Amino acid sequence: MPLATQDQNRLDQLHRRLKEQTEMFLGYPVAKDFDCRALARFLELPLNNLGDPFAPSTYQVDSREFEREVVTFAAQLLRAENDSWWGYVTNGGSEGNLYGLYLARELFPQAMVYFSQATHYSVSKNLHLLGMRHIMIRAQQSGEIDYEDLRETLRIHRDKVPIMFANIGTTMTEGKDDIGKIRTIFQELAISQSYIHSDAALCGFIAPFLNPRPAFDFADGADSISISGHKFIGSPIPCGIVLARKRHVERIARSIAYIGNLDTTITGSRNGLTPLILWTAIKRLGEEGFRLRVAQSLTVTEYACDQLQKIGVNAWRNPNAITVVFPSPSSQVRKKWQLAAAEGVAHLLVLPNVTSVQIDNFVADVANDMGRS
Ligand SMILES: *Cc1c(COP(=O)(O)O)cnc(C)c1O
Repeated sequence: MPLATQDQNRLDQLHRRLKEQTEMFLGYPVAKDFDCRALARFLELPLNNLGDPFAPSTYQVDSREFEREVVTFAAQLLRAENDSWWGYVTNGGSEGNLYGLYLARELFPQAMVYFSQATHYSVSKNLHLLGMRHIMIRAQQSGEIDYEDLRETLRIHRDKVPIMFANIGTTMTEGKDDIGKIRTIFQELAISQSYIHSDAALCGFIAPFLNPRPAFDFADGADSISISGHKFIGSPIPCGIVLARKRHVERIARSIAYIGNLDTTITGSRNGLTPLILWTAIKRLGEEGFRLRVAQSLTVTEYACDQLQKIGVNAWRNPNAITVVFPSPSSQVRKKWQLAAAEGVAHLLVLPNVTSVQIDNFVADVANDMGRS
């Protein structure tokens, strides 16, 4: 049955509005240059990546083979040792963070979770869901955790195994916790057992290409890492990747006869299309393409920061960040460019598709705004 004309019109209207809104989109970390129309034919199929991507399954209308290639690419980029890791394509960074914390809790039920006050809002909800004890640590102005506060707090709770929820690019300022420094603190306090999860929602596909390379991945001591697939890569459907040390996952795997598979993932039915989207992006770009994408973003970010400073705006950014932070402009400018603001501070994110022309238009709006006030 075709849609009634009025219903079809509503979809057309929505589509027009979304096209317009997408043009003016600087405030959220979402790249929008990814064309996956070639994958449209997969929408005709009941794709479902049910269960563990590495275990055989009786449900075979799936893209799990491609999913395995996606997580393998990520594992290599994040310097996991061969055969020592496991992972899957999630519904987003938040699910990967939930997974990391869940693993940590299963390994250390009596542990204490530490995270900085700049941590993503979804994390306190996840800790609540999991019933995990936790302590919030101060953050520096950059968004990076305050290591002194962390050290002092750890010292007081030395009887409990610490689970560190590390931010590799905070939501507001893209501050990065250094898990090398965190591990040093653990050693200095003679803490022998610990777990570190890296929340690399935005920066998982950026940080491996930065110089100096931030300390955040498996070689640096992470036990699990979560990345969003709709942020830097720009999947039009929210998704993500979570990776963890295999020996941790093996301790919680349960075999389920009904699907002939392991119940290692958070959800049962899983998206079969998003692994194909990520796979296409990875094949198109390759490591070299990612490197260029990062370089391109950094160049335009520097330009944006400079242009704002030139008109007298107190804009700043963390080293090698694609987030520019500045005092919040008027609500009109924020609305037009879809800028998030908190406590009088706004930010813009220069993802790979943002051009210097867009930046010029935005800076002109901010300049106008200042002229009026
Ligand atoms: C975006 C973001 C998340 C949540 O990721 P989703 O993919 O939106 O679920 C978590 N942590 C940080 C730091 C983020 O920027």
